[in-house]
Amino acid sequence: MNAYSFECTACGKCCNSPPALSIRELFRFRDVFIGCIAIGRVRYHAVPPPHAFVVDDANAIIVTTLAFDYASTARCPALMENGLCSLHARGKPDQCIAVPLDPLVTDDLQHAVLAQRSRGAGWIGEQCIKPGEDEGALLLRGIEIIDANARDAMQRRRQALQIEREIWSTAVFDGLLRDFPSPRHALSMLPEEGYRTIAIAPALLAIGCLSRVLAELCITYIDGQTAMIERSVARAIERRRLDDRPTTQTMRGFADALQYARRHLSAMTFGTETTSAAQRAEEWLID
Ligand code: SF4
Ligand code: SF4
Repeated sequence: MNAYSFECTACGKCCNSPPALSIRELFRFRDVFIGCIAIGRVRYHAVPPPHAFVVDDANAIIVTTLAFDYASTARCPALMENGLCSLHARGKPDQCIAVPLDPLVTDDLQHAVLAQRSRGAGWIGEQCIKPGEDEGALLLRGIEIIDANARDAMQRRRQALQIEREIWSTAVFDGLLRDFPSPRHALSMLPEEGYRTIAIAPALLAIGCLSRVLAELCITYIDGQTAMIERSVARAIERRRLDDRPTTQTMRGFADALQYARRHLSAMTFGTETTSAAQRAEEWLID
């Protein structure tokens, strides 16, 4: 039986890029992360993950949010100089608590995730993931996640994906499909590994059109994100690295898309009634 044990020494080595997190977490950590939408493939054996959009009997598409930064920094923006996570006291994103498991992958394939990550460049040498059952450090046995913290974080992350599917990601996925003759064509445009990233603006438009309160929440978020993007681009210009240029163009594209969304949200009019969809979204997104 595939079993893996896990012990983290908080060396920070795997915090080498910004994490995936829900839009609720992005709103919460708006002072830390620049948000974007990530569209990627999910493969499954028998049961499709409920948080993904099924394409055929082996492939699905996941639409989630992701923090975005210059790859040249080779670190998560929340990682401190001492290698620790600055969000520890505030509560890390669930995807990070679930590490080294991947909530986007079905439980029957987590052993493959761990096998790959135990050899991956971001982790190698740390030996925090070990095959076998170490006493007190057992993470996974077969398809069962033994560690309660990781199991709970996996569940919360997947629940967030399902709730946000209702609130915004279905609308974004439907918009994506309008550009393609079929879901298979959309799949063919995605990289084999990793994600295609786009601006977060379509998600904010989907959320903001639900109610005046949500529109105002999204406009406030847009203003904060615009300022963060400006600061991030200014730092990149100071670094004077050629390999930062494509990311600077992407950041500027994100800023333009945010301003487009802001104009639309500012011009929206709303009735006096709150729909059930708006109520659910407000409960989910407003602390
Ligand atoms: S590489 Fe391993 S030991 Fe280091 S922070 Fe990541 S999980 Fe922890
Ligand atoms: S949020 Fe914290 S735990 Fe997650 S990748 Fe960033 S530094 Fe690491």
